[in-house]
Amino acid sequence: MRVDGVVQGVGFRPSVYVLADELGLAGFVLNDARGVLIEIEGAATVVERFVEELPQRAPPLARIDGVTLTELEPGADPVAAISGNGATTEELIVAAPLARFEIRASPAGERADALVAPDTATCEDCLRELLDPADRRYRYPFVNCTNCGPRFTIVQGVPYDRSRTTMAHFSMCAACQAEYDDPYDRRFHAQPNACPECGPRAELILLPEAPSADWRPPFGRSSALSTQAGDVLGEEQRSAPGDALAGAAELLRAGAIVAVKGIGGYHLACRADDERAVDRLRARKHREHKPFAVLVADLDAARALVELSPAEDELLASPAHPIVLAARRPGAAGSLAT
Ligand SMILES: [Zn+2]
Ligand SMILES: [Zn+2]
Repeated sequence: MRVDGVVQGVGFRPSVYVLADELGLAGFVLNDARGVLIEIEGAATVVERFVEELPQRAPPLARIDGVTLTELEPGADPVAAISGNGATTEELIVAAPLARFEIRASPAGERADALVAPDTATCEDCLRELLDPADRRYRYPFVNCTNCGPRFTIVQGVPYDRSRTTMAHFSMCAACQAEYDDPYDRRFHAQPNACPECGPRAELILLPEAPSADWRPPFGRSSALSTQAGDVLGEEQRSAPGDALAGAAELLRAGAIVAVKGIGGYHLACRADDERAVDRLRARKHREHKPFAVLVADLDAARALVELSPAEDELLASPAHPIVLAARRPGAAGSLAT
């Protein structure tokens, strides 16, 4: 089976594995340069059921554009037969029926044109962990799983595997590795899987003085994880002691502008209800009139500030959580700076 579409980095292989495992089928699944390749072996009726159920079992972020089926004689080379271009990889040759279903490593050295999924906002499950004091990822800003988190901004090549992302520098701890290896875990083969023990950490860097109006943050996509903020801000920066998140929140409350370095770059943040802070941000960004995005905790908070049509409502609550242009609610204008 050849599956085309957005099928890498979205938990597609785990969903294939779980379905094959449930149905007792043997074979393998792998990411290749084009998408996902599945070899499935078993009784004809069960294989049919697998083919039928596969699209319904696809994870939320997957988008299947096409499925191509090729029947194989036992012992045939699935890669050569399915890709139809004579490509072959030694270890893929099925010389004898497989005993079980497995996820295989991506074949090397192929032309890469697989689609990479966009970054996706933190999912409900991860948010729950983020806010649970008993969870090991409590207040961990880089929490993610197969259903959410960074994709496009950390990719350095396809097929999408951890070794071809900026997360390759971080070795998973035993607990993260166990999640990554467990087909029934939400983080099975989640390439950016990380925790406070083994992943990137938040640090609060204080500038020695307010930067001049022409200061620009050093933007850089691939360096976002491999470079510490201190390396790019210069020698005069100093790391603030204590909890970085609490420190940043305190600064924001006091009217400071905080450059939040995330996985994909910087967000410049300040209080939206602080006229002076917003004015300073406009001056520094040379952005006198264009609107800024306002960050809110939930839909109710958004509705208090703007009027939302059902379509805008749906967009805001969708898994992508995009920035949505909406009309200011009359009367709510006073709480937001202009
Ligand atoms: Zn998640
Ligand atoms: Zn870990």
